[in-house]
Amino acid sequence: MMHCYATRTRDTQGIIMADDTLLDRALTRLEEAASHLQIDQDVIEKLKYPRETTKTRLLIRMDDGSRKSFLAWRCRYDDTRGPTKGGIRFHPDSTIEEVETLAFWMTCKCAVMNLPYGGGKGAVRVDPHGLSKTELERLSRAYVQAFANTIGPDRDIPAPDVYTNAMIMGWMADEYNQITGQVSPAVITGKPIALGGSLGRNDATARGGFYLVRHLAAELGLDNDHTVAIQGFGNAGQFYARLTAEDGNTVVAVSDSAGAIYRAGGLDVEKLIAGKNAGRHVADMAAEQGADIIAAEDLIGIEADLLVPAALEDMITKENAGSIKAKVVLELANGPITPDADKILNDAGVIVLPDILANAGGVTVSYFEWVQNRQGYYWDLEEIHAKLLKIVEREGKAIWDIAKERNVSVRSAAYIHALGRLSTAIEAHGTQPFFAG
Ligand code: NAD
Repeated sequence: MMHCYATRTRDTQGIIMADDTLLDRALTRLEEAASHLQIDQDVIEKLKYPRETTKTRLLIRMDDGSRKSFLAWRCRYDDTRGPTKGGIRFHPDSTIEEVETLAFWMTCKCAVMNLPYGGGKGAVRVDPHGLSKTELERLSRAYVQAFANTIGPDRDIPAPDVYTNAMIMGWMADEYNQITGQVSPAVITGKPIALGGSLGRNDATARGGFYLVRHLAAELGLDNDHTVAIQGFGNAGQFYARLTAEDGNTVVAVSDSAGAIYRAGGLDVEKLIAGKNAGRHVADMAAEQGADIIAAEDLIGIEADLLVPAALEDMITKENAGSIKAKVVLELANGPITPDADKILNDAGVIVLPDILANAGGVTVSYFEWVQNRQGYYWDLEEIHAKLLKIVEREGKAIWDIAKERNVSVRSAAYIHALGRLSTAIEAHGTQPFFAG
């Protein structure tokens, strides 16, 4: 068995590194997957550290004439399988460790879906709600000026993440074009459609998860009219609610940061989405939905067949995992279940469809956007949906079969699947037996 976690606490120069960081915990998944595969130690040596992480400060002019500087990072974790791919997050709590962990997850996610990409991620430590629109544009353009040599259509391709959106991607692509003197829409994905964005990108994350659940429904023990509770009612949560309700299932509970509502007979999803778009919280709509208001943290313990975490990281912990009554958890959010909680759920027989598979529909349609930009020919929505369906069903079934054959969790199976592809690529450059030979 390869011990990437154990060895990581001391680097190759013998310098002791911090124990139990977010990245260390993420790497334990890799260690477990490695124990199921015959792979060379070179593979782990390559994957246990990010290839490069660049830190800089973005200095922008504020509307009141003052200058302000913001910390920013871009991590290219591993590019063995192709240019690195991953979003840019604007968040006041962003850290280098979070950026590197998210870039590691992107490396695995792209391998899971067999996209020709490595993994990357970027962030700016900022509360974007405290900026005016012109300040936000200056900050977005400053990010590209700082990382113009890092990103590129064949090197590192950003996308939106938490608190960044299509308009920000449009500003960033435009800045890159001005710097290079060329029009390169493929440098960034998640752009507005008018600037080379893809049809179907807005609901792609939820749609990928929805296709996955529908494809595996029989194996998961979910009927055609199962009940669903959704934590987080933003982009991923709302689109999932719509797709599953249209398919005949019943959404019984939803939450946002201000509270949760529950109605055993089902909620009116379209009215909830309309209310959210008008700036209301879900709890404000309880009366008109005939629903009960519950505490946001109580949503995960609701009586429902399927629980969909679609909010933030670390929402299901060892303190609350025991309250989950759902048979299946679909991780639309990245990292919503801590490793301790994951073990509790596994022991209780709850099937977790892991983030690197469950929410990979988003990066898959981002990949379609990049392909369309490069070929200069655009697909219609039916083609996008058909291509996404094919990939989700193919990889979802392969991972399900690994889980059954090896008697491991679906999460472990997803990492085994990803590591198999990553190791084949890394080993293709030659391994120790070849060079020592
Ligand atoms: P979003 O900002 O649109 O929505 C997040 C929602 O979570 C909001 O409704 C917010 O009110 C809610 N929330 C915050 N704290 C909460 C709490 N304590 N309890 C309940 N709800 C809470 O974000 P999004 O784009 O939907 O992303 C959600 C998750 O999905 C993130 O983990 C993100 O990384 C992941 N994800 C999103 C995409 C995508 O394409 N949008 C792709 C892959 C992964």
